Amino acid sequence: MAQIDDLPPLRDVIARHQLMAKKSLGQNFLLDLNLTARIARAGGDLAGVTVVEVGPGPGGLTRALLACGAERVVAVERDERCLPALAEIAARYPGRLDVHAADALTADWPALLAGVGGPVRIVANLPYNVATPLLVGWLETEPWPPWFESMTLMFQKEVAERIVAGAGDDAYGRLGVLAGWRSEAQIVFDVPPSAFVPPPKVTSSIVHLRPRPLPLACRTADLERTAQAAFGQRRKMLRQSLKGLRPDAAAWVEACGLRPEMRAEEVPVEGFVRLANSLGG
Ligand code: SAM
Repeated sequence: MAQIDDLPPLRDVIARHQLMAKKSLGQNFLLDLNLTARIARAGGDLAGVTVVEVGPGPGGLTRALLACGAERVVAVERDERCLPALAEIAARYPGRLDVHAADALTADWPALLAGVGGPVRIVANLPYNVATPLLVGWLETEPWPPWFESMTLMFQKEVAERIVAGAGDDAYGRLGVLAGWRSEAQIVFDVPPSAFVPPPKVTSSIVHLRPRPLPLACRTADLERTAQAAFGQRRKMLRQSLKGLRPDAAAWVEACGLRPEMRAEEVPVEGFVRLANSLGG
């Protein structure tokens, strides 16, 4: 393992602070500092950048972000057992690590970042049990463009495939519509279960999302309602699956430049935006 700093190995940190992984908190820790450095680098050149990290845990990725030159890391961790280990990292990098003991699902990000100048990026090995709601919250940020410049996030591979999927892909669904509308998303690399302690059952993937500065104009709630109705009955034709939204579904779909016989998985993001913008009500 390459030495990225002069702090103790993560295994020792975990043993000393008795950080036995809790499944209820989605705790699968990364101990390989080469891998955490690779994830940090996937976030781009971090010089002058403030990084928001959700769930630093014992601090493997946190250390990599700081060693890779992040100007500051603002970390939100729900498990208070991790705070003493994180305080040791903060002492090694004075003034560069702020740790908030809080639930990221209810965090007020602009308030946590008050006083921070310069670009902000999100880089995190997310807890799987809350990864999708966190991503959806960030993608639904108002006003848009959001407070972050990019997101570099770990998901279960199957979720990652849904995020980057477009029309015609098996994994295309509501998440792909939302992510494709507001961002350009790509899988950067996969991470095998053996990289984590304890190992999860499935492979994971790092996804990089870059917000579109000018996504097609649309109300998020209308886009979500439309995608939910269409993908809720994904095997049915739009003229049937969208009837619950508008009784004249076939004519409405045609007026949006789509064929009423199409199925949800064939409709590109722009098609969903046109439907959402003429949903009415
Ligand atoms: N970043 C560490 C690493 O890569 O080894 C830990 C990642 S582990 C997959 C997820 C972390 O998120 C855990 O430390 C867990 O305690 C924390 N966590 C779980 N739910 C959270 C929540 N709602 N808000 C903030 N942190 C949370």
